[in-house]
Amino acid sequence: MSTKRLVKRMGLAALGILVVLAAILVIRTLSLPPAPEPRDPAKPHAIDIDRAAARLASAIQIKTLSHGGEGPVEGPAFLQLHDFLATTYPVAHQKLTREVVNEYSLLYKWEGTDPQAAPIALLAHLDVVPTPRPEAWEHPPFAGVVADGFIWGRGALDDKSSVLAILEAAEALLAAGFEPSRTIYFAFGHDEEDSGHQGAEQIAKLLGERGVHLEFVLDEGSVVIEGAMPGVREPVALIGVAEKGFATLELRAKADGGHSSMPPKGGVIARLARALDRLENHPMPANIRAPVDGMLLALAPHMPFGMRMVMANQWLFEPVLIGIFASAHNSNAMIRTTTAMTVVRGGVKDNVLPQQGRAVLNFRILPGETSADVLEHVRAVVDDPEVAIEVLETHEPTAVSRTDAVGYRAIAEATSQLFPTAAVAPSLVIAATDSHHYVDVASDLYRFLPVHMQPEDLDRLHGVNERLAVADYQRMIDFYIRVIQQSCADQAP
Ligand SMILES: [Zn+2]
Repeated sequence: MSTKRLVKRMGLAALGILVVLAAILVIRTLSLPPAPEPRDPAKPHAIDIDRAAARLASAIQIKTLSHGGEGPVEGPAFLQLHDFLATTYPVAHQKLTREVVNEYSLLYKWEGTDPQAAPIALLAHLDVVPTPRPEAWEHPPFAGVVADGFIWGRGALDDKSSVLAILEAAEALLAAGFEPSRTIYFAFGHDEEDSGHQGAEQIAKLLGERGVHLEFVLDEGSVVIEGAMPGVREPVALIGVAEKGFATLELRAKADGGHSSMPPKGGVIARLARALDRLENHPMPANIRAPVDGMLLALAPHMPFGMRMVMANQWLFEPVLIGIFASAHNSNAMIRTTTAMTVVRGGVKDNVLPQQGRAVLNFRILPGETSADVLEHVRAVVDDPEVAIEVLETHEPTAVSRTDAVGYRAIAEATSQLFPTAAVAPSLVIAATDSHHYVDVASDLYRFLPVHMQPEDLDRLHGVNERLAVADYQRMIDFYIRVIQQSCADQAP
């Protein structure tokens, strides 16, 4: 065979492969289910929203602050909030049992009629973060103002609103004569903003000691967000089915010290700087894996054809997707274990060589990896026996909860009813929530608040001008009513 013919044959073969590949890509793309038709909005439950909003505003006035471990628990404020809830929701407090856990957290139990049905728990937290710049707020953070269609103040979003909405839902259901088939717990921790060790962790421990195993827990974590997902015009309701883990590591270097007029080469600070520079330039590897791959697949039908093809063929386009995600710090956090340098200390005086120095790094661990993987990575990258590495605190990422289970069905259905135009998708929560304390006592953990936000609203969380639209609060109450009803109606395993 002549060289010319061989080249021609090879060209034809390559063309053939390309055609087959293109066919696979297109077939996989077309085999995705179409985007569901927008539904008619569900008939809202009758809620006296003006009075409910006024009750939330009153609760915001009670300063249940968490100081991040840097101050005592604001005990009297938490007890005041307990009393406020008891007098504001008398029927729920009469029909449900309520116990105080570890002085300031609350656990309610609403006994189900079917002892065989697995119980569920709705989570929220009583505490709020401080407000460093109260003068910058449009309405003072603890005034509890309802104005311009919003409830303003610290806790309106994160997430005292959820505590009150759950109790509003219970009062409404009790008034309508509803009896749950499953036992329903409401678990309100008092230190979520400070790790949840005193609140959620103790409640979960107590449930475990009593042999309670929950079908699912629902906590805060994700919201309905608009304009955050490229190619998707609809608002996106992200239901958190997994949560990243956490590892705080300390690097320490030691040296003899001495006078700065005759420094030896190296030294504590140079050593630490070299280690940190290596870590900055060698992040943990990126991956598109559960639950992010499932999120992209669920959103794909809402995207234009080209992007849908990428989502439907992640086996081929993963490097492209990683490039896109890695280009922005918030999306980068969805695809890898992140490295954050948070503390550096070393040296005491300008003319004294330091004898020791330390750096603290905080890693947020992607599901599928562990704190041991992080430690191994750090050791390999730092690669310096003179730098000691110590683990200060860890918790592992959660497993990915099921999307074909009672809890997800109830949450997704209630969300579709109340946000009929939204695309609903499972998602990864990059921050920690109280729900991870329940891993041993619940089959599935979900994180979702039915609040409609624009990307710029995210700054209001822990920032200034935190507020909740009154219409969103109404939907939030309605959402909990529906989740309770639907998880009781759904007796499938
Ligand atoms: Zn919160």
